[in-house]
Amino acid sequence: MTTSPQTPLLQVRNLCKHFPIMSKGFARRPIGAVKAVDDVNFDLMRGETLGLVGESGSGKTTCARTILRALSPTSGQALFHVDGQTVDLAQISEKDLKPLRQKMQMVFQDPFSSLNPRMTVGDIVGEPLLIHKLARGKELQDRVDEMLLKVGLRPEHRQRYPHAFSGGQRQRIGIARALIMKPALVVADEAVSALDVSVQAQVINLLADLQDEFNLTYLFVAHDLSVVRHICDRVAVMYAGKIVELADSEELFENPRHPYSQALLSAVPSIDPDIKMNFDIGGEVADAGKLPPGCPFHPRCPHRFEPCDKVVPWLEVVEASNTSAACHLYIPPEKIEAAALAQGSK
Ligand code: SF4
Repeated sequence: MTTSPQTPLLQVRNLCKHFPIMSKGFARRPIGAVKAVDDVNFDLMRGETLGLVGESGSGKTTCARTILRALSPTSGQALFHVDGQTVDLAQISEKDLKPLRQKMQMVFQDPFSSLNPRMTVGDIVGEPLLIHKLARGKELQDRVDEMLLKVGLRPEHRQRYPHAFSGGQRQRIGIARALIMKPALVVADEAVSALDVSVQAQVINLLADLQDEFNLTYLFVAHDLSVVRHICDRVAVMYAGKIVELADSEELFENPRHPYSQALLSAVPSIDPDIKMNFDIGGEVADAGKLPPGCPFHPRCPHRFEPCDKVVPWLEVVEASNTSAACHLYIPPEKIEAAALAQGSK
């Protein structure tokens, strides 16, 4: 958890990641696009943990990967303020991006597949330092040992291979590998989803402790809301590639504003560990390649009303709150009217 966040480390502006849909046949040409991430905006403050949540297919992982440039953005900005300079991660060349990679690290969901089974733990954790030519020999070994201790492992684990460890220990190895570069930004992509509940709590506590010690900023991608509530300061709820609600964590869980957030929070845990939520609303998550007109959530929304299938809502601050919601329930009618004219639905 965090101290008092003040300044942004990352500012995401109008970020889009669209995948073209091509026609069949000999002369293939684009006939549409899957809008996996569409006009996403948020600030991530230094020392903060921001959760990105939503159903599978909501665009949360694609959004995180686009920010880190694992995927090339279609348009928009991701302004990264680090070492006294500001760089737009969305526009920077691959060559200029390379030295910045050490400042942005990722912890993956599956500790089983994200660690090379043929490398020792020492080689896995120390590899980023070698690649970036930051340490070698005795210094490298000392830094690996120090990081293993920080994540609750022991220096003698350095000689062992990943298969000799439990799932929770493997995730600790993944965390050690990410943090040995002293990153400013850590993206945790479903980082505890594959772990048992008791182990989840240990890894979450470890992430929180390390955040305090290294002043880390986390973008925490997750679908398990109980985990999000525990670790995140603020939460961005995504649906069909867009942020539909952005709120302080406690405020979201106490008083969700967007009907989709309300549905997410009404979800109950399933006894099947692979199914974390049961929705009490019908329908499927919107197809990002064929979005309905107006609000993408309107076919499933129990509160839809006259403008919902015509006018696309946008994030608007909900009165007397720190919450923004993209829903016509919170947008003044005169603004909806003006947007209807601008969007050509009138
Ligand atoms: Fe429901 Fe309308 Fe709000 Fe969309 S804009 S979430 S359809 S009330």
